Amino acid sequence: MARIGVLALQGAFREHAAALRQLGAEVREVRQLKDMDGLEGMVIPGGESTTIGKLLTEWRMLEPLRRRILDGMPVYGSCAGLILLCREIEGSDQPRLGVLDATVRRNAFGRQVDSFETDLAVDGLTGGPLRAVFIRAPLISRVGEGVRVLARLDADRGERIVAVRQDNVLATSFHPELTPDLRLHRYFLDMLA
Ligand code: GLN
Repeated sequence: MARIGVLALQGAFREHAAALRQLGAEVREVRQLKDMDGLEGMVIPGGESTTIGKLLTEWRMLEPLRRRILDGMPVYGSCAGLILLCREIEGSDQPRLGVLDATVRRNAFGRQVDSFETDLAVDGLTGGPLRAVFIRAPLISRVGEGVRVLARLDADRGERIVAVRQDNVLATSFHPELTPDLRLHRYFLDMLA
């Protein structure tokens, strides 16, 4: 049974924990440094990236978490979690882990499009498109050489990257934890093998 931590400082962590438990993982909500002991992987949920980054800094967890990821621990970030993983955040110097060689644009769909859903083909997932929920979502505007693009929105309209993987780092700008489809969480658990 995989031991997975879900960062539980703020945001949609309960839904991630529920999805991972349904897949048979042992899940621990991570609120302080010692909660990270012995974990085999971590999920950073959606929420408000500035708040989560500030709390990670205040609780002295930002550097230890970065170290674990650089040492190879698999991590999955959705939405605000993706933002925290990226090296560059357009127009912002907010705290971040910065382990993913990519640039992200926060709230990339503007105020008019607060949230939407769409069916998305995701590289590496079999069984047809995934229903993807976007909420005040970011877009990835640049990826480095070692980053594999797993999904794009309206691929015909240029970049609009919404799912990526770089070695042990997985990130999506949407929220798979808000639908009953467990394939993306299964994909993440397979990264532990
Ligand atoms: N807009 C949020 C941010 O910039 C992310 C939204 C989300 O995680 N659903 O942090």
